[in-house]
Amino acid sequence: MELTRRDALGLLGGSLAAGFATRSVQPLFAQAPAPPVFPKGAIIRTLLKDLPPDALASGATLFHEHLSMRYPLGVAEHFTDDVALMIEEAKATKADGVACIVDGGHADMVRSLDALKRITTESGLPIVASGGYYMQRTYPADLAAKSADQIADELVKEAAASRFGAFGEIGQQGGVLTDDERKVFTAIAKAHVKTGLPVFTHNAYTGVRPTPNPVPKDTALKQLDLLLDNGVKPSKLAIGHLCCLDDTKAEIPIAVAKRGAFVGFDRVTIALVPDAQKVTTIMAIVEAGHASKILLASDFSSARGLKKNGGGGLGQALTVFAPMLLKAGMPEATLKSILNDNPRAFLAFQPKAA
Ligand SMILES: [Zn+2]
Repeated sequence: MELTRRDALGLLGGSLAAGFATRSVQPLFAQAPAPPVFPKGAIIRTLLKDLPPDALASGATLFHEHLSMRYPLGVAEHFTDDVALMIEEAKATKADGVACIVDGGHADMVRSLDALKRITTESGLPIVASGGYYMQRTYPADLAAKSADQIADELVKEAAASRFGAFGEIGQQGGVLTDDERKVFTAIAKAHVKTGLPVFTHNAYTGVRPTPNPVPKDTALKQLDLLLDNGVKPSKLAIGHLCCLDDTKAEIPIAVAKRGAFVGFDRVTIALVPDAQKVTTIMAIVEAGHASKILLASDFSSARGLKKNGGGGLGQALTVFAPMLLKAGMPEATLKSILNDNPRAFLAFQPKAA
């Protein structure tokens, strides 16, 4: 449709008027970002089928949770072993308004694809499965002898065979990448170039609590550089765990957003930095004009959060954390675009022919 100048002015007038009404109670920065525009043929690859991005528009998509894993490695049992329980939790989270969950595990965290398939089939909650490697201590013994190209080729094949919809969480153990971790990040970038699949990372974090091995704050920016230098499209990249930096001015998240990548606030309701501080940091990102780059999730990994145990459930980023943002003054429309639109913009990709 071609807009005449008059139509365009009319639209502008309308949105200005709407903005004005909002501004009487909310600052200008708080206006919701424009809805995402998807390239032709872009899909979100869930375990059961490829979905047009619009299919998930009416609910929240949480880009980094765990529905199946045995981590820390070597634990005899894990609450996610109870697949029937996870099906009930997935049903409950769907009822809360969650449209889709991305599972951030993979084989080296003992994620079971069969468990994920049962959970999505029996709950009706769309699930995106991920591929890749976590960090040095989880790598299989034979990884050291492989080249980045070999690892990338294997990942591309595995992604197609297992219907991965993302590569993640791709992490590092300490403040500096080991040689193997650098090789894995490079391999992930190569596999992304061949498949178009989105990538999310696990950043080593500092937090506000003194840790035995404090890590430098710039690990996030180094991950970003390494992945972008090796061909990852910034719009298909989320740097994770930025909510665990003690960075209330949001200097690092804003630097990540300025490069076009997504800012992962994917440990809300858990870990290290208090939620109130995470809220302050998010509001600083929004104020700087980067609301469209914020992704929320909770890295679900503790039985305490289960509905069964009185927690906020798999969707605790939506049920527990999101209300804190509203209370801090974020308008509903902005929150909705962060929860419903940003993750679809991150996940949707144009599949490349094998
Ligand atoms: Zn995780």
